[in-house]
Amino acid sequence: MARASMVDEVHYYATLARDTGEEALDEHVMQSLGTVERHQFVPAHQQPFAYENRPLPIGHGQTISQPYIVALMTDLIEPDHDFVVLEIGTGSGYQAAILAKLVTHVYSIEIIEALAATASARLAHLGYDNVTTKLGDGYHGWEEHAPYDAIVVTAAASHIPPPLVQQLKVGGRMIIPVGGRFMTQQLLLLERTTDDEVITRQIAAVRFVPLTRER
Ligand code: SAH
Repeated sequence: MARASMVDEVHYYATLARDTGEEALDEHVMQSLGTVERHQFVPAHQQPFAYENRPLPIGHGQTISQPYIVALMTDLIEPDHDFVVLEIGTGSGYQAAILAKLVTHVYSIEIIEALAATASARLAHLGYDNVTTKLGDGYHGWEEHAPYDAIVVTAAASHIPPPLVQQLKVGGRMIIPVGGRFMTQQLLLLERTTDDEVITRQIAAVRFVPLTRER
């Protein structure tokens, strides 16, 4: 089956890259990757490629991330059953679906109206009833449901948005690509250690679409 071989490839990739410092990604994360139907999250003409370990275009100049990167980011926040997670950049809804299998609730914000509408309808149709989406600029986070156990940012920011750090629980983790638009970015893992302290760790060089701002 195509999805199973994608999972094998991600597993193999993780063993080589060891971006987490561990040999393998968390088994629950791998199970989620093996369950979520990625072909449901891409446009019809991309479906033949849905189980290849690479990003794919989803329209509006945006992409669904590479499965390995989705798995890596999910692994690094160390998801637990009782987690409430905020995602910035709903895009196709795929990362939200992967998270939804692992945690209590996922809140996800998307800035492009058409993508937000499609993803929200798709997630509802596929039965992901523990995902709540909204249209907006994720730079400001989603105060109403804060604080979060973890925050996953899937668009590259020039800096770590202070509102997101504020909305993270003490002890919580945020995974975020940071860097400019025309360069590779650094995937950063941030942990809020106290009310006013964070520690960050550089994980890998990555390429994400930019975090855009509401005008
Ligand atoms: N997580 C997505 C990946 C989407 S690519 C998936 O699994 O498919 C990143 C997404 O971030 C794009 O859809 C882009 O429109 C969105 N984005 C960019 N800037 C944003 C912002 N300020 N707030 C919310 N979403 C943003």
